[in-house]
Amino acid sequence: MNRTDFLRTLAGSTFAVSALGNQVFAETSTGTLVETAPFKQAPLPYDFAALEPSIDKMTMEIHYGKHHAAYVKNLNDAVKGTPFETKSLEDILKTISKAPAAIRNNGGGHWNHTFFWEVMGPKKGGEPKGAVADAIKAQFGSFEKFKEEFAKAGATRFGSGWAWLVAKGGKLSIGSTPNQDNPLMDVSDIKGTPLLALDVWEHAYYLHYQNKRPDYIKAFWDVVNWDKVAENLKKA
Ligand code: MN
Repeated sequence: MNRTDFLRTLAGSTFAVSALGNQVFAETSTGTLVETAPFKQAPLPYDFAALEPSIDKMTMEIHYGKHHAAYVKNLNDAVKGTPFETKSLEDILKTISKAPAAIRNNGGGHWNHTFFWEVMGPKKGGEPKGAVADAIKAQFGSFEKFKEEFAKAGATRFGSGWAWLVAKGGKLSIGSTPNQDNPLMDVSDIKGTPLLALDVWEHAYYLHYQNKRPDYIKAFWDVVNWDKVAENLKKA
């Protein structure tokens, strides 16, 4: 999908008003996470259909165009006129215990989805190489063991939430967070620099997989962007 088609897809939706700011078509989304309000949704780095068959086009359209867009709009509404308006999203998350629930839920929602889109990609998957492969083997014994543990974190998160692979103090760990919490938040059980994330909210998979969350998790491995995970590890 080119930019024109993308705009056409959005035309007529309330999303178009909230998200099509001047910077929404910035080249990468990473910058959006250190910006201050008004927060903007970066473009999806690939077409809505690009992750098929692992993640279907309609799920991606609704997930990115409605769910993620709503988190951004609601976050902007929530910070308006508050001291959070002049803080970067990452700074807000670090002291999220001091923020109202609307900022926690929607700030986490914006950060998590921006991160999630980037750790996936078309024609990806396979096994990590180099430093990521070494770190995974050192921590979990093997890539297969790592996948088992990560899948378990996603499958056993009750209700809505996220599974994470994070780095902290030179070590990797796996965990999950409820709702839109993430490992950058001071309230999180699992803390560290996120390397990989998986959205296990029903909205992320229900259209195609219904109640079969483990099938969605299995298909996720075919779209993991290990190059992006390697970049994340380098910054950790
Ligand atoms: Mn989601």
